[in-house]
Amino acid sequence: MKSIRIDGAFGEGGGQIVRSALALAALTGRSLEIIKIRAGRKNPGLRPQHLTAVRAVAEICAAEVQGDELNSTRLVFRPSRSPVGGDYHFDVRDAARAGSAGATTLVAQAVLLPLAFADCASQVVLRGGTQVPWSPPFHYLRDVFLPAAAKSGLRAEAELNTWGWYPVGGGEFSLTVQPVRQLTGLEWVERGELPPAGVAGVAAVTNLPSHIAQRMADRARNVLHKAGIASHVQSLRERGPAAGAGIFLVAEYSNGAAGFSALGRRGRPAEMVAEEACSALLDHHAATGAVVDTYLTDQLILPLALAAGDSILATSRITQHTITNIHVVRQFLETDIRIESEDAGGGPTPASRLGGMIIIKGVGHHV
Ligand code: ATP
Repeated sequence: MKSIRIDGAFGEGGGQIVRSALALAALTGRSLEIIKIRAGRKNPGLRPQHLTAVRAVAEICAAEVQGDELNSTRLVFRPSRSPVGGDYHFDVRDAARAGSAGATTLVAQAVLLPLAFADCASQVVLRGGTQVPWSPPFHYLRDVFLPAAAKSGLRAEAELNTWGWYPVGGGEFSLTVQPVRQLTGLEWVERGELPPAGVAGVAAVTNLPSHIAQRMADRARNVLHKAGIASHVQSLRERGPAAGAGIFLVAEYSNGAAGFSALGRRGRPAEMVAEEACSALLDHHAATGAVVDTYLTDQLILPLALAAGDSILATSRITQHTITNIHVVRQFLETDIRIESEDAGGGPTPASRLGGMIIIKGVGHHV
């Protein structure tokens, strides 16, 4: 079969193209070449997190790889077998010249589907950053993405062993993945109600005074209360390899959850961190079309394109990441994916600002 060539500069030209292409190459057995990797970023090429994902997926499907080096802008990836389950350890530090907080949740994003369609269950330990800006915090993976993917039949659980905040990293989580034969489509066009207990959350610090966690939790409760939303935000002080602070909120609507987070940094008051996460949650809550949160929308494209049957997702914003993921999926799978945006005239408004429906005809990939 002809090798698939992916232009890494497409769309936002970021790392997600690499992860999605790797997962799809492993699942379809197709050889892959990616050029201009992360051309849209100011530090193009494979960074430790992406290189870890390359090596991880390569191990799972015994791929022959060229260009698997830090900063490489071209990758050739030839799987030699179907994904094999088992015990795996992936550490972002192994791909970095120095310590790295590369996001372990994004490495998980690359290996999860290949392992779900593997021959047996897998127990994966991932080391690196677990709470890193511009990537899903561990709590988002556990409390939002995995439950959403479970609705289409994916069976995986994640457990946090050590908090690893950006920029030091050094965190760890375990991921257990059960094999599935096939995923099913998902219709998610109404979000339902928040439960009477409202929003759940955790405000956490490691190696910092507990009052910081308490202040984040208190502010979040107050902001949400003023907006008429009940909440239960637990404050937590943990030990870890480095100091860090952040808040993770989950709005568990009756038809599925949406997740919002913010990370602290030196000089930023705890209250402002809490307000950032609350403001993202309140924006989502106020938008009538916001059923599936914008991050989850891009993250569900791959599983639903592989699933059997049709899927419909309603989202308040079609992001560039979603458009890019659809583009990568189309290179590998004969799937029909349509975006019905609110821009009825198809005018000059950038698609990334529009809400709409994503309609996916899954290919029914199975083992
Ligand atoms: P690059 O450094 O090239 O940006 P990357 O691999 O770090 O690459 P992206 O390609 O931008 O990152 O992909 C980021 C992924 O993380 C997307 O799937 C996005 O939905 C997800 N993501 C980013 N921020 C959050 C967040 N706050 N909560 C949940 N998911 C998030």
